[in-house]
Amino acid sequence: MKTATSIIDTLSMLLPAEDYSTDREHLDRMSGDSADDVAIGAPLAIVYPRTTQQVSTIVRAAAAAKVPLVPQGARSGLVGGANATDGALLLNLTRMDAIREISVADQTVTCEAGVNTKRLADAVAEHGLFYPPDPGSVSLSTIGGNVATNAGGMQCLKYGTTGRFVRAMTVVTGTGEVLELGHATAKGVAGLDLAALFVGSEGTLGIVTEVTLALLPAPGPLMGAYGVFVDMDQALEAANAIVASPFGPAALEVLDGQIIRAINELNREEVLPGDAEALLIVQSDTIDRAEADIAAFAEIFSTFGATKVVTATEPQAVSDIMNLRRQLHPATRRAYGSVLNEDIAVPRGRMRELIAGVSGIAEELGVPIATGGHVGDGNLHPLIGFDPRDPSSRALANKAFERVMALAAELGGTITGEHGVGILKRSVVGAELSPEVRAAQKAIKAVFDPAGILNPGKKL
Ligand SMILES: Cc1cc2nc3c(=O)[nH]c(=O)nc-3n(C[C@H](O)[C@H](O)[C@H](O)COP(=O)(O)OP(=O)(O)OC[C@H]3O[C@@H](n4cnc5c(N)ncnc54)[C@H](O)[C@@H]3O)c2cc1C
Repeated sequence: MKTATSIIDTLSMLLPAEDYSTDREHLDRMSGDSADDVAIGAPLAIVYPRTTQQVSTIVRAAAAAKVPLVPQGARSGLVGGANATDGALLLNLTRMDAIREISVADQTVTCEAGVNTKRLADAVAEHGLFYPPDPGSVSLSTIGGNVATNAGGMQCLKYGTTGRFVRAMTVVTGTGEVLELGHATAKGVAGLDLAALFVGSEGTLGIVTEVTLALLPAPGPLMGAYGVFVDMDQALEAANAIVASPFGPAALEVLDGQIIRAINELNREEVLPGDAEALLIVQSDTIDRAEADIAAFAEIFSTFGATKVVTATEPQAVSDIMNLRRQLHPATRRAYGSVLNEDIAVPRGRMRELIAGVSGIAEELGVPIATGGHVGDGNLHPLIGFDPRDPSSRALANKAFERVMALAAELGGTITGEHGVGILKRSVVGAELSPEVRAAQKAIKAVFDPAGILNPGKKL
């Protein structure tokens, strides 16, 4: 209790009243991210720093009082990474949201960590520049959260995930030290690449307060197509042929038959053929070539047995096609009541085994599992249905969840392609990482966070 009182006294001396809160209702609202069914603790307070220096001072005070800190962006995460733990201080970066500099000459943007991802992408687009990472949560999430989770998205097939665009960052370590990591330059190999280590570290090594991101020249207008298949294997073969083609799609997504039927139910009409077992959606943004690329992809769909192919070149029609993919979550949630959202990835060559294995687990356990996601880069999101009011249904879903992750690891893949570990997947990290690797990771954490106050109980 003494600790709790002293850290709150310290906050009240450091910050104006509007920049922190101990109000229980406010804390309840801010204590969880977007994951269903993950433990949420009771925090002491939430603090909204406005400068790197304030972050450093708060961390020093927390370290002295041995109070754990939970860094937060927009809390759109899906693994409980930003969830409060008991007695923690929530360190919410959303008020550090300045875009400091957009450099056309260097093709970079420097911003504070709390800037909204879409706001940043729109701001650089006004200068003819392009920030490609596009998580489905782009209008919610922050750049700091994207860096801390190495967020992916549809266009990461062509352009890579967030980490590929990180040049440099300012971080505050668990001792309150401020470190400048990475390089402003396109190349740079002085010392170890510590900026890369912080990408995807989920707030366990330090608090990212400022980031410099690389940008690309603006691409051409997006064009798209979809193909409907009565057999998932045909769709996977078509996807392989598209990836192997010289046309480099901007996105390549799959939805299975259960999702197709859930989408029809959600829309109360048959927007897609009800007997289909797979839908592939492909996009191209290549300047002066997108229309020809889309025609080539449509041809590939037909060659591999698509029963229906639709192409789109106008923005609204292109967006209507991708909106089918965006219905994956709402449609399956409506169909199943509640879903556990998986995020596994396998080497693309093992995709067929993965999908067959997931169906086998669903059948054996009698649990509905719908599968869709980024087929182009091997990252799928099986959605495991359960009834939240029925403990036995929940237990079966959890069992299926663990079996699906073990399957991904067995196939040489990963238990998380883009959402991260957080709390949700911490107990299954051992399915993928050896004890020696986990020990090495904990030793690295101790270098940056010797008192273990940064997001304890998460990730590692
Ligand atoms: C509808 C929807 C669609 C989504 N689609 C995708 C998708 O396509 N691809 C994808 O990768 N993810 C997706 N996500 C998950 C989520 O949006 C991403 O993980 C995103 O990067 C989280 O950003 P955030 O600002 O909300 O971070 P938060 O959820 O607040 O935090 C995420 C993690 O990062 C840490 N963190 C946050 N900010 C900082 C900081 N400044 N310094 C250090 N650590 C920090 C937190 O402690 C936590 O561990 C989706 C989520 C939703 C709700």
